[in-house]
Amino acid sequence: MAEKRTAHDGANTRSGPPYGPIDAWRAPRYTGLRTFARCPYIRDLDGVDVAIVGVPFDTATSYRAGARFGPEAIRKGSILLRPYHPTHQVNIFDRLSVIDYGDVEIVPGNAVRTAGRIADGLLPLTERGITPLVLGGDHSIVLGELRAHAAVHGPLALVLLDAHADTWDLYYGGERYFHGTPFRRAVEEGLIAPERSVLAGMRGSLYGPEDYQQPRDMGFEVIPGDELRQLTPNKYADRVRARVGSEPAYFSFDIDVIDPTFAPGTGTPELAGLSSHETLAYIRSLTDIQFVGFDVVEVSPAYDTAGENTAMLAAGVAYEFLGLLAVAQG
Ligand code: MN
Ligand code: MN
Repeated sequence: MAEKRTAHDGANTRSGPPYGPIDAWRAPRYTGLRTFARCPYIRDLDGVDVAIVGVPFDTATSYRAGARFGPEAIRKGSILLRPYHPTHQVNIFDRLSVIDYGDVEIVPGNAVRTAGRIADGLLPLTERGITPLVLGGDHSIVLGELRAHAAVHGPLALVLLDAHADTWDLYYGGERYFHGTPFRRAVEEGLIAPERSVLAGMRGSLYGPEDYQQPRDMGFEVIPGDELRQLTPNKYADRVRARVGSEPAYFSFDIDVIDPTFAPGTGTPELAGLSSHETLAYIRSLTDIQFVGFDVVEVSPAYDTAGENTAMLAAGVAYEFLGLLAVAQG
C-alpha cells in the first residue's frame, strides 16, 4: 500500500489509507502542528474518507460567546488520541483516510451568510461521499451543514444529543437564525425528517412545558435527560435504530449535553447532565446506522478548566464518531 502521508509530509512509514496521524513512536505527540488527531492539513480531496472541518462561528449564541475558539481548542485537545479503539477492536486509521480540512470562512455577526458559506464549503465533500466531521462553533452552524447533506441525500434522520432541543422559533422579537433555532429552520427547509429523528438529553429549567412538547408536535421523538440516563446504551441505541432505520443519518452533538462538572467550557450550561463515561458509551452503542455527517458544537474554551477537560472530551466525542465510521467500514 502507499506510504501514509502526514502533517510531517510523508514522515510516517506505516501502510494503510493515504492519510492518517503522524506515528507517535517517531516523536512525542506534542510535536508538530495542531491538526485534529495529528492528521495532515490537506485541501485536495482525492483519497479522503473523512474530513475534519472547523467552523469558528459563535455570534448566534444567546448567553456566553466564545465557541469561535472551539475548533482550535478541540484540535489541541485531540493530540493524545491513539489509533486503536479497544471497545470496537479496530484501528481507526487503518480503515479510514482522515484529513484536517481546515476551517470554513465564516462571517462573524452574520449567521445567515455564514450558513450559506458552510453549505458551500461542505458541498464539495458531501458530493464526493466524503464524511465531514465538523468542529464548532455554536449550534447555528448545523443549518448550513444540513443543507450540504440534504442536497445529496434528501431529508436526513437527525440524532441529537443536547441539553436543548434547539427547535425554538424566534429570538428577541423576530430573529430566526440563532443557536436555539437551527432544527426548526432545518425542518422548514426540508433538510431533516422529524419522524426518523431522535433528540435526547434535554434538561434544565424551561420556559414552559411546551419546550418539550413543541419538538414532539413537529414530529420528533424527544428523550429528556432524566429518561435517557435510565436507558442502558444498548436500549438507547435500539430506540435510535428503530427510528432512523437504514436511511442516511446526521449526528449532531452539543457538548452541553454533558454535565458542566465534566464539560464546563460551553455557552449555555445546564446542571445534572451526562457523565463523560455515559456520553461515550451512548455514542459507541450507535453502530449499524448510516451516518453521513457529524458535528461537535458549543465548546467555548474560555470557560474550560486549566486541564482543558471540555476540549479533550469534545475530541473524544469526535474520536467516537470516527470509531462508528471505522466499524461501518469493516
Ligand atoms: Mn444545541
Ligand atoms: Mn445545548
